[in-house]
Amino acid sequence: SIIPRMKTFQFVIVGGGIAGVTCVEQLSSQIQSADVALITAGPHIKAVTNYKQVSKTLEEFDIEEQPSSVLEEKFPNLTVIHSAVKCLNTQSHAVETADGRVIGYEKLCICSGGRPKLLSDGNPYVLGIRDTDSAQALQKRLSKARRIVVVGNGGIALELVYEVEGCEVIWAVKDKAIGNTFFDAGAAQFLIPSLEADKPQSAAPCKRIRYTTEEPAAGPGSALGPDWHEGIVLRGAESCSIPHSKQSNLRMVRTTFAVWTSDSFSHPFFFSFSFFIPCFSSLSVGSWPVYIQLTNGKSFGCDFIVSATGVVPNTEPFLHGNSFALADDGGLRVDDHMMTSEPDVYAAGDVCTACWELSPLWQQMRLWTQARQMGWYAGRCMAACVLAEPIELDFCFELFSHITKFFNYKVVLLGKFNGQGLGPDHELLVRCTKGQEYVKAVLSGGKMVGAVLIGETDLEETFENLILNQMDLTQYGEDLLNPNIDIEDYFD
Ligand code: FAD
Repeated sequence: SIIPRMKTFQFVIVGGGIAGVTCVEQLSSQIQSADVALITAGPHIKAVTNYKQVSKTLEEFDIEEQPSSVLEEKFPNLTVIHSAVKCLNTQSHAVETADGRVIGYEKLCICSGGRPKLLSDGNPYVLGIRDTDSAQALQKRLSKARRIVVVGNGGIALELVYEVEGCEVIWAVKDKAIGNTFFDAGAAQFLIPSLEADKPQSAAPCKRIRYTTEEPAAGPGSALGPDWHEGIVLRGAESCSIPHSKQSNLRMVRTTFAVWTSDSFSHPFFFSFSFFIPCFSSLSVGSWPVYIQLTNGKSFGCDFIVSATGVVPNTEPFLHGNSFALADDGGLRVDDHMMTSEPDVYAAGDVCTACWELSPLWQQMRLWTQARQMGWYAGRCMAACVLAEPIELDFCFELFSHITKFFNYKVVLLGKFNGQGLGPDHELLVRCTKGQEYVKAVLSGGKMVGAVLIGETDLEETFENLILNQMDLTQYGEDLLNPNIDIEDYFD
């Protein structure tokens, strides 16, 4: 049966995460008369607060979960519809929601984010963390857990193995070094002692939002962002009268059939395994609810498995009956105006894949900052199209930059920070003071193309300038990282 169309809006944005909300804000402030609808599955929206431009490309901000009424009060022409989009018809320019509404659009922007890539779908012992609900589910399960297995090597796995207390953690990593999404082996080695050491008694004060949603989300929620574990006690069942030591909690597994125990933990940290199969067979006796078997033949019992192996773009409801061009990672391909291959349909944030001719110093990573930048730029492009104004790719896509925190260290990543795509034709300069800082500059053809700065190095602006200027640094050689030379003076 044909469901009557509720209304046609000039702009419809799907997704109340950071990309969608920023897009709405940009559109509504640029064209105040614009008739905008935000359709989102969750009860709350994510707003950027305390935005601070740290340097030309580095930015810092906090995220706040807010009721959508805050946004509607700010923008009187905005309608927020709380329901999940079930399907899209790009020909008739309409979306249908799970609660049966059909909403027309002139221009649509899909900002539906991603969902955790799970090792095993529908297995009650395999958890993924994506939103407030899933983080709370993890916390609840953890309070009764004696041993968990964490699979994955990105930012979420890193945070998790650092934060979980009172429970044995087996960390299964398939790469050569920990945190390979962000770090090379050198940086990983710098960070390893933090895992072994006792954590500081009280963590540094943190201004950012605590995720305290009480209402369960109605559908797929927004991704958590920086500090998602703040305010969520990640404690296992073990009584913690003994001071917590990471060393006794963490066990790493490698293909050489060795299991990392507290005794061997101080040895070199390279470990790898290539595949991992959760299974319920009686591989090892005991009374665990779930057992995992690694390709090295080892099996372990545990209370549950946390699958932290990345996200899959949430494209599913939009594909049926349409012909979106998809990238290899499953994202909606977007061009330099954030347009998908379907007319009048834009996309931004985790759901899309940047397929324009990328700057040699930028790469897409599904991060908070990029969700904000893409949402903002998509809003500008949609407005520019309606106003028939020309628009050029924003400067933020010139240089990859990201500030974050790992193991309580400030971490700044710039450009091709891991030599991404440079092949063997690059040089690394490294300076490291144990427990204090790790500085790595990536040079190609005598020019700086990337950097990793861990700790309070105060070098981010200088390095950013050196990378943006593409100055030939050959004559400075290793002095570039000489701590006795004030490199800023050098280049003034
Ligand atoms: P999301 O924030 O995922 O929002 C998607 C929105 O779409 C949600 O509101 C959802 O309800 C809605 N939606 C989905 N499907 C539908 C539908 N069919 N109909 C209607 N609405 C729909 N990044 C960092 O930079 N730093 C970090 O420290 C960091 N930590 C993270 C920790 C965790 C546990 C996770 C999961 C991610 C983390 N990220 C981090 C990544 C970051 O959270 C994402 O890159 C970012 O949130 C993407 O924003 P988005 O707006 O594209 O999508």
